[in-house]
Amino acid sequence: MRAGAPLPLIVLIVMAAALLMALGARSAAADEQQKEVSALTARIEALPDRSRLLFDLTGLPPVTAHPVANPPRIIVDLPEVLFRMEANAGLSPGDKLIKSYRYGTFAPGRSRVVIDLVGPAKILKADSEVAVGGPRLVIELAPTSAGHFASTVAEQARLQPAEPPKLPAMAAKAPTDKPMVVIDPGHGGVDMGATSKHGEMEKDVVLEFARALRDKIQETGRARVLLTRDHDMFLPLGERVRIGRENNASLFISVHADTLSASRVEGATVYTVSERASDAEAARMAEKENLADQAAGLESKADAEEVGDILFELTRRETRGYSRQFSHSLISFWKEVGALNKNPSRSAGFVVLKAFDVPSVLLELGYLSSEKDLSRLTSQDWRERAAQKTAEAVDAFISARSREARAPAEAPSGAARPQ
Ligand SMILES: [Zn+2]
Repeated sequence: MRAGAPLPLIVLIVMAAALLMALGARSAAADEQQKEVSALTARIEALPDRSRLLFDLTGLPPVTAHPVANPPRIIVDLPEVLFRMEANAGLSPGDKLIKSYRYGTFAPGRSRVVIDLVGPAKILKADSEVAVGGPRLVIELAPTSAGHFASTVAEQARLQPAEPPKLPAMAAKAPTDKPMVVIDPGHGGVDMGATSKHGEMEKDVVLEFARALRDKIQETGRARVLLTRDHDMFLPLGERVRIGRENNASLFISVHADTLSASRVEGATVYTVSERASDAEAARMAEKENLADQAAGLESKADAEEVGDILFELTRRETRGYSRQFSHSLISFWKEVGALNKNPSRSAGFVVLKAFDVPSVLLELGYLSSEKDLSRLTSQDWRERAAQKTAEAVDAFISARSREARAPAEAPSGAARPQ
């Protein structure tokens, strides 16, 4: 069988090639399944008896939907979907049932579409399906009575109480004596925050600033920095406060950029927390920012005021004093950036600033509704300078606090000494 010897080799080669091809095909199919689904376009079709919201997709994800009240909304939950549409797609569709809608990540591996309703509606359909043009997500809503809507909401709450998303535990930090600064870029994921008329979104503007600020603080080498979110994800307000407290932050800075109907109003404002708002504008701002959880479809609960003992009250009072001290210092450093609101120091009941033991401020970088502010906020050069000044204010605050901590026994100047 001298001539037969090469044959098994050829057979082997053919078999190996076939096996490799089969494996390749299988892994390609697995990749296809694993691949994240994208949403490419979104549109509304108004039909005589219903409104239909459609997203063109690249796959068929599982879909669940339920209504929530106050204000009436429909929440559509999906596994992670990459939304690749225009930033302001769907913000004001002018539909008779759908007031507006937004979409984005809600928690790691989960995405969400939130539909704000004009009035009570029932879900006729919420599913992904294959249509002529390819896969799509279909949400069909029809008007219903207030009574029917309320009973569906109550039934949903009974079956599946709304829970804030579970987030991965923060990595334990190696012990170090450097103080921790927590920077909190507002909004994120399904909660876009304010938007400019050109489509710039608050959630993106504040994240870019927060990253620049982190770099500037880290350059000083005198503090550790943690961002409550480092990418485009939703984070409930309570979670932001928790991150500050659990990391023993010496300072918590929440970063925002609002819009106003008056486009002449401009410049940065630093807010601290107070029971009574410093002015009507501050009250309005706190009310708006405190609705952030609602934007993602979470129920907004009246926050139970922590009732504490005398030590709690003393700590809170001291913390608020430090917050105001940092606020004043930040404003004086920002004078050099030259972009302050004419009333830059305000206070109101911001939920995100309520950690009783972490000095906290909310830095409103400016207004996306002001062309001047918008050009500053989207300029890398301005961002670098403003982040630099903020980092200098942080450094001054931290240095002053650590001097205090090193010399606790020294009597404060002016204090009465025993004779
Ligand atoms: Zn905001």
